[in-house]
Formats: sequence, structure tokens, C-alpha cells
Amino acid sequence: MPDAKKITAILLKKYPNPRTALNFSNPLELLVATILSAQCTDVRVNEATKKLFKKYKNVKNYAGADSNAFENEIRSTGFYKNKAKMIIGCCQKLIKEFNGRVPSTMEELTTLPGVGRKTANVIMGSAFGKQAIAVDTHVLRVSNRLGIAHSENPDKVEEELMRQIPDNRWTAFNLAMILHGRETCTARKPRCGACVLYDECGWPEKDKERI
Ligand code: SF4
Repeated sequence: MPDAKKITAILLKKYPNPRTALNFSNPLELLVATILSAQCTDVRVNEATKKLFKKYKNVKNYAGADSNAFENEIRSTGFYKNKAKMIIGCCQKLIKEFNGRVPSTMEELTTLPGVGRKTANVIMGSAFGKQAIAVDTHVLRVSNRLGIAHSENPDKVEEELMRQIPDNRWTAFNLAMILHGRETCTARKPRCGACVLYDECGWPEKDKERI
């Protein structure tokens, strides 16, 4: 079994201060940006939120938004009808049950419409500075290739990773894995020959991709 602690150390040497690529300045903005990021690139989300965050400054603004107008404002991120429903629904619930504030625990966050473990972990890790592993498509793929995870189920992979990664490194590991998945261990053509994790990686195909 590959050494997850060593992998974490190597990754954090390459990415000493990893950050999410989504622009935000408070937990509410990150919640909105994370919901918009489903099936959409971070670049496109950042383009959309640049305008959005100027107009919608608090939960009340979102909760009282006209849904047709709001759908148009987020249309470029795709699946906009669903996303509008989720964001407006989330903010209505935040007002009703959380005093208008974004909560910081897994139990509370996952009661919000459309918020699953992955989104909750993103908020906890990047907005509240807690230790959390959000298993997105990059973390899922790279962990399985490395051999430190053995499932296509994100919840199972999260558990496997939490068991192996030191718990004061979960968020940094998470963000570094996303960068590694984007830049090196890409879905279609991983750059194994240029990979800092080559020696630690258990992927049987790595030699083919090295050439
Ligand atoms: S060696 Fe290849 S498969 Fe393994 S982590 Fe690096 S890029 Fe990914």
C-alpha cells in the first residue's frame, strides 16, 4: 500500500500553500460559488460571481431574489434552474433556522438544500479553516490511481483518506490533490514522467504514460 503520509509530504512541498481556485470573501460567497461550480469550471464560476457578489451581498438578498432574474444571472454556469433553486432555498433556510449565518459543521451544513458532504467539506475547509477532505472528481481519480483509495464512492474515499492522512493536513492535502489532478495527474493524459509522486504511485499504467 502506498505511503499516504509520504505522498502528503511530497505534495505539500510542491504546493506549500494550496488555495481553492474559487473567489470568495466570506462563507456565504463560498457556499454560492461551490453550488455554482457543479459541472462547471472555476474560471467560469469566478466570471459569474464577479457580478453576482456585487448585487447579492447577504442571505436576505438571495432569499428574496426573483428566481427568473437570478436564473439569468447564473445561466453561464449551466444547470442554472436547479442551481438557482438550491441557492435561494439554502438562503431561505439560513434565515429560518440559522439566524442568517452559514453554519460550520457537517451536521448543520448537510441539512441545507443541495449541500452534500463534498460541498460541506469545501465550506468547512476553506471558509472556516477546519480540517476537511472534499472528494471531488480530481481527488477521487488521483487517490485511486495512487492506490491510497479503492472506491468510486466519494464518501468511502473520504473515509479511506481520513484514516491515512494526518488530521492536521486534511485541507491542505485536499487542495494540493486538486492542483495535482489539474496540472499533472489529468483525467485523459496523466503526465507520469513529470510527476513528483511517480516513485510512490501504485498505478499499473504509470510506466506507459511516462514515455
Ligand atoms: S505517476 Fe502518473 S498516475 Fe501516478 S500520481 Fe503521478 S501522474 Fe498520476
